[in-house]
Amino acid sequence: QLGGNKIKHYDECSKRTGNELDRNMLERELKKAIENQEFTLYYQPIVQLSSQVIHYEALIRWVSPKLGFISPDQFILVAEECGLIEMIDEWVVDRVCQQIRSIHRDEIRVSVNLSTKTLESNRLEALLLHTTKRHNVDPRHIALEITEHSILKNEVATIDKLKRLREAGFQIAIDDFGVSHASLNYLRLLPANKIKIDKVFIQNVTTGSKDYHIVTSIIALAQKLGMTVTAEGVETEEQVDILQKMNCDEIQGYYFSKPVPIESLAGVTASIRKE
Ligand code: C2E
Ligand code: CA
Ligand code: CA
Ligand code: CA
Repeated sequence: QLGGNKIKHYDECSKRTGNELDRNMLERELKKAIENQEFTLYYQPIVQLSSQVIHYEALIRWVSPKLGFISPDQFILVAEECGLIEMIDEWVVDRVCQQIRSIHRDEIRVSVNLSTKTLESNRLEALLLHTTKRHNVDPRHIALEITEHSILKNEVATIDKLKRLREAGFQIAIDDFGVSHASLNYLRLLPANKIKIDKVFIQNVTTGSKDYHIVTSIIALAQKLGMTVTAEGVETEEQVDILQKMNCDEIQGYYFSKPVPIESLAGVTASIRKE
């Protein structure tokens, strides 16, 4: 009995210490990561169903020399909490503008993810305008993906900011659409021209299912509001067929391609076109 307790106590302690160590180490390594150029961008194709046009979403990748591969779901939150996310998002925007020129076509569009903190920053507008200008990239080639739970504070100011960015040419996409309880309110308020239906709705979208009706309705609603709709997390041919019948505008997911490094992008794009 006594021994058991001791062991239990020891386990909990070491677990706690372990977590704190991980977290501190993650934070410390993250601080060095930008400077040491440990981040790269991967790009995932977003395929327009009615045409040959293919856009891309930029997704950050981090291989730390000390910790190995860490997924964005693991480190973005930490970066938000320790005040590093703005620097990271800035780096992404700069890098995308730099790289977009090597894949330059008239109809090219690259989406970047902006975290809440970055969206609320007073510097965002200047940053986006300066960076695009410096790289000679027309803002209409950039889509800003914002998540539904992004807008918490200064709602009015943030919406105004997004309106000005939209006027400057940036596309605005509501990411992970449908998972927040405020989805419909965001449709009303945000100057977005695009929604991305979250993958939880796509995973079980078989004909006649609950999700089938939900997705059908989201597409109809968004299109009535003049927005284009992207389905995220599309993995199977069956899902593609169903979404096509629903008149969904764009499809993104492993079915077409996983996110790939920029060197592989031309090849991947060509093979999608051939299908
Ligand atoms: P997200 O913006 O919703 O990005 C889509 C995520 O789904 C990506 O994960 C992508 O690799 C994954 N995905 C794409 N197709 C499929 C599919 O068919 N099936 C499944 N199961 N997953 C698929 P990733 O790259 O690990 O990124 C996770 C999240 O981290 C992103 O979710 C986004 O919220 C955040 N993130 C990624 N890059 C950045 C960045 O540069 N800046 C910021 N602020 N956040 C980022
Ligand atoms: Ca996204
Ligand atoms: Ca998403
Ligand atoms: Ca997400």
